[in-house]
Amino acid sequence: MRLRILLLSLVLTLTIIPVQVLATEQEGLVPVIEKVVGSSVDRNWEAIALLYDGQFHDPVEVDEELENIHALVPDLVDLETIGQSYQGRNLTCVRITNELRVTQKAKTLVVAHHHGREQITVELALRFMLHLLNNYGIDDTITEYVDTQEIYIIPTLNPDALEVVVNQGNHWLRKNLHPFDNDGDGNCSEDDVEDVDGDGWISNYYVYLKDNSSDNPPFYDYDWEYWEGIDNDNDTLFNEDEVGLVDLNRNYPIFWSVGGGDLLDPATQVYCGSEPFSEPETKAFRDFALKNRFSMAYSLHSGINATYFPTDEDEYWPENQLYYQMTLDLADILPESFNEYLGYLPSKMSQEAGLSGGWAEWMYYQRGTTVPITLEVYHNGSVDTEEAHVIILNNDTHIIREWEGIYGYFNPVEDKIGTLWNEMLPTFMYLLEMTPRLDVSVTAISGGITAGSSISLSARTECLSPRLGTKENVYILNTSMDVLDTTIAVGGGQSLPIQATIELSEDLTNDGLNILIGNNYSGFTEFVISLGYPSMTIDPVLLGVVIGISVLAIVVVVYIVKTR
Ligand SMILES: [Zn+2]
Repeated sequence: MRLRILLLSLVLTLTIIPVQVLATEQEGLVPVIEKVVGSSVDRNWEAIALLYDGQFHDPVEVDEELENIHALVPDLVDLETIGQSYQGRNLTCVRITNELRVTQKAKTLVVAHHHGREQITVELALRFMLHLLNNYGIDDTITEYVDTQEIYIIPTLNPDALEVVVNQGNHWLRKNLHPFDNDGDGNCSEDDVEDVDGDGWISNYYVYLKDNSSDNPPFYDYDWEYWEGIDNDNDTLFNEDEVGLVDLNRNYPIFWSVGGGDLLDPATQVYCGSEPFSEPETKAFRDFALKNRFSMAYSLHSGINATYFPTDEDEYWPENQLYYQMTLDLADILPESFNEYLGYLPSKMSQEAGLSGGWAEWMYYQRGTTVPITLEVYHNGSVDTEEAHVIILNNDTHIIREWEGIYGYFNPVEDKIGTLWNEMLPTFMYLLEMTPRLDVSVTAISGGITAGSSISLSARTECLSPRLGTKENVYILNTSMDVLDTTIAVGGGQSLPIQATIELSEDLTNDGLNILIGNNYSGFTEFVISLGYPSMTIDPVLLGVVIGISVLAIVVVVYIVKTR
């Protein structure tokens, strides 16, 4: 009997001790952490149509479209005037992002329309915006992109030229509207091209010299070309003082004016300006780009189908493997019409020497944009065909061919704009897929709560772009953007653990300490560290021992009672 009581006491004691150990582990306040996740935007808008669908927009109509989407979806659309054109038109940048989540996100950019006649680029930019708004809250992928990225879109960097191209029928204007007296007669732009025959298009005339000495005469040598127009100022010359001066895509500082020649001649289509950033349009873009960091960006052009990656002076890609991989990615998603241009790329590994004064080279070399792509979205193959050229002169020495441009060199006909947009859509989705957003989740936190003590964080970081990483280290910052700790960079598609230590400069309070994890390229995830009780996590081994002893105790008690 005494032995039984002794056994019973022993068993009960053995049960109580581990429970006591478990309880004492949980005492005291500790730092706890929570991710700050903003809300989604409630979708309270119907599908938005363009106010001017199926037509090319002039700059006033572009502004109307932007005001319209801003009014309809203010929580996703923000308009920013980044500067003025030469003639004083506003240069507008649209930002599409979930504005209920204010922490800086990964940024991406589409800038359209450096070149006046490339109107289709304005149209694609407008349709890109609508596509995002019309699919937010419906399509999970697009909702995720808009929630986690700041998508910047400049629909026209050259609105002055857009006005001339759309409303004055000058479909050949490429440059900006900086006035210039090309022929030195005291007047600016007084002898421009015209649609003389009133067919709605300005013809291009190609002059060839006949070479009758060859074995198979006549053999033609291209000599020169000119445009439809008249001698407006009666100086016996025509089109010698055209509208437009600077090629905005030759006005950036990298390799500016390198090569000379046409670049330095104000009369040519590629005049680079009096100095880098001489023009208000490129200055405005520069100031905008200096405020924002983009890992990837598109500049839209037309006239050919191509994806130009920046190159160095020796025609090499500075990001050889990455660009090679991306040309393969793009070959899968670009329209068929791009094939002939992409076909030779993987072996050639480069398309042209670094463009003198080009946008992409500046973005790469001075703004740290890993992948700035000059995307040429439209090519009209008819310019290369015999049928599209009409012989208007054929004498002993010359042949002149007229290309009426009726097929539109830089732009499709209006009712094909929507078709082209649908074909190019995957390329725009690719941009968003490639933008490196960093997904961060803290897996453990420990440390003190008083000033001078430190807190240790363990987190898992995953870069959601399959190709582009965070480029720079991942930082832990306070909301004043002071760096609290620095960890490693995360590569494209990588999932990496990071460790960080935060020194507390003051006691942790119930208000909490807000911290940001990320960097300028990948955006930031916000967390709040506050006071809490340790979570009731119990060591499974300890728990097993407790349960085991308890079960044993019950068995022993039952045995004792039964055998009495
Ligand atoms: Zn262009």
